[in-house]
Amino acid sequence: MHFARSWRQQAANLRLVGSQCTSCKKISFPERIRCTQCGSTELKDHRLSGRGTIFTVTRVFEAPRGFGSQVPYFAALVELEEGPIICAMLTDVDQKDASVGDKVTMVTRRIIAHGDDGPIIYAYKFTPELEG
Ligand SMILES: [Zn+2]
Repeated sequence: MHFARSWRQQAANLRLVGSQCTSCKKISFPERIRCTQCGSTELKDHRLSGRGTIFTVTRVFEAPRGFGSQVPYFAALVELEEGPIICAMLTDVDQKDASVGDKVTMVTRRIIAHGDDGPIIYAYKFTPELEG
């Protein structure tokens, strides 16, 4: 993937910018060039709220390379309030188990650091919504 395109896509992902079909109004994330519901290519950017509900969740003890320092962690499918379901890590859930149906909110967190001098990669994660 071209570096500039990759950089723009990462920036869009961190802001949770998806697409909304101008024909049937379906909202998708990440951005798409064709609507998966009606096939239209008339789509516009749509910024998602970052609020959602845990659709399913599991605890990861054996992480892929680069994520070993974060185990164990929760990985979840989060159903955003606008409809898309996305895969994300959960954060700030040490004191509480994550459960299906819990309300969560998107936050930006460091996900990988390549050594002391290398690039730091940020990504979205989801944290439990504060009650009250
Ligand atoms: Zn559509």
